Order: sequence, then structure tokens, then C-alpha cells
Amino acid sequence: MHTNSVELVANGGWDGRILVYRNAPLVDTFVVITQRHVVVVDTLINPATAEQVWQGIRSYLTSARSLLVVNTHADYDHCWGNQFFAALGVPIIGRRASVPIFSQPESLDFWQRAQAAEPAIFADVTPTPPTLLFAEELTIDGGDLTLELFATPGHTPDHASIYIPQISTLLAGDAAELPYPAPGAACDLPAMRQSLARLAALDAQTVLYCHAPTDSGPQLLHDNIAYFDRLEAACRAALGRGVPANPPADADVIALVGLRYETAVPQTPPWQNVHPYYRTEGHAAQLRMMLASFGEEAADGNRT
Ligand SMILES: [Zn+2]
Repeated sequence: MHTNSVELVANGGWDGRILVYRNAPLVDTFVVITQRHVVVVDTLINPATAEQVWQGIRSYLTSARSLLVVNTHADYDHCWGNQFFAALGVPIIGRRASVPIFSQPESLDFWQRAQAAEPAIFADVTPTPPTLLFAEELTIDGGDLTLELFATPGHTPDHASIYIPQISTLLAGDAAELPYPAPGAACDLPAMRQSLARLAALDAQTVLYCHAPTDSGPQLLHDNIAYFDRLEAACRAALGRGVPANPPADADVIALVGLRYETAVPQTPPWQNVHPYYRTEGHAAQLRMMLASFGEEAADGNRT
């Protein structure tokens, strides 16, 4: 399942001050080298993987530069290396909304199950929340590059993305993914789509994601938006035909709505060759959330 391997991804044309480290096949993490700071954006899955990133960037830590860590959100594949940097005294920057997630019963349960299932990877992990907190926005002025952190809720309520205006570069985190980002629940879907729209409106030339090939480019934002727009149209039509807003658990919701994954996404290999989960259960879960969110709206309309 998980590995402790970390590789530096060859620069695919983005600004050379951004380094991409990959814990294959799961997640990419970023380091931004500025005049004043070396900023690690997400800390991978455990102290061992975090330490490999640190070893890779140590040569950039000259006396004029301080090391900072940013968490895009509190999912394990983005912050379970925090403790390694915290032990070095490095400030960990994150959204205020992230902190309570670390002590939620579901998070503790997930941590214990991960430790039991894969002790070689997770036995050493102590989930460590960020300590330098912001609500909606925070600016890190690195001198040559400015990191603008801003809330992009939806995938999780505490999610943040980072825009670097001098090089028109966006670090989207998990606010957009190949083949699609997933909201936590139906009620998070509108926020997630608003976040996608906000990211696309930046019109960044370079966009890097935590779960998408590095050559996906800004087009992935638009493809994610189009996916949810197609789901909305199909779900509204289905509700109009009498499909229930909350179909029974055993219902084939893809057949009920009549929108298969393969036709809801671009007809090109990166989308058509994704893990089967995204074509079946993942897509069905998105349809259920979309039905629930617009079914509620229709019910509200009927009451007024
Ligand atoms: Zn993730």
C-alpha cells in the first residue's frame, strides 16, 4: 500500500525555485525556495518521508533563510510528517480550522487503524497540528517570491491553496485532482465548486496538484469544473424524472442518473485509465452527493 520512498521529480518547465517531491504513487509535495524562506508545502505521510524532503533541501538553508512548513489541510498524506519538522523547531503554518480536526474521534480512529494496518509506515506517527494559524488568508513575503495562502474549502473544511503571483504559479493542493476532487459530504459540494471557480479565476500559467501528473496544467481546473457541471445537469434532470434525492444504499445510482464516469470526463487517456474506484464507487458517491444537494434545494423550493 504505502511506501517510504521519496523522489525529487524532474522539473517539467515550472520555475526552478519550486521543487516537487513525490511519495509514489500517492502524493506530491512542494518546496518553494525564496530569498528569505524555504517553505515546505505539506509534509508527506510520516517522519521518515518528511526527513527525506528535509535532507533534499538542507543545502538551501543558508544563514539568511529560515525554514517554514505549510499544511494545505489535515489529511494524513499532507501532514503526518509534521512531527519531524516540529522537533526541529520549525513553525508549522496552517488554517485555524485544521487544529480541531487533529483531535476529532474519527481522526484518532483513522490514525489507530493505519498504525495497526501498516506499522512499518505509521507506527512512529504522532499527528501534530499546525501552530502558526490563519483564518482565511496569509501572506509569506519571501523577498523575490510571495506566497499567498488562501482558504479553498470543500475537499475538507480546512483546505488552503497557495498562489505565487510573481511566477503566476498556483499550488492547488487537493482542491483539484485527477480525475476529480472529492468533498467530505454533500453539504461541502457547493464550497468545493466555489473553490474550483476561484482557483480557475486566478488564470495561473502553472498549476501543480498533490494528486495529478505535474504536466496537468491549468486545464485540469477547468476539467474538474466541467465534470461537476455535467453531474449537476444530469442530477437535476434525474430529479425531474422522479429519481429520489437519497436513493437506497443498494441502488445503482450511475444507472439511475444515466451519467457514466467515462462520458462525464474528457475522452483522453489520463481520465480513461484511472483506478477503477474513480469510475465506479467514487463516481457514484459524487452523484449521490449531487442528488442530495439539489434534492434538498428542490424540497426547499416546494415548501415556499
Ligand atoms: Zn491528499
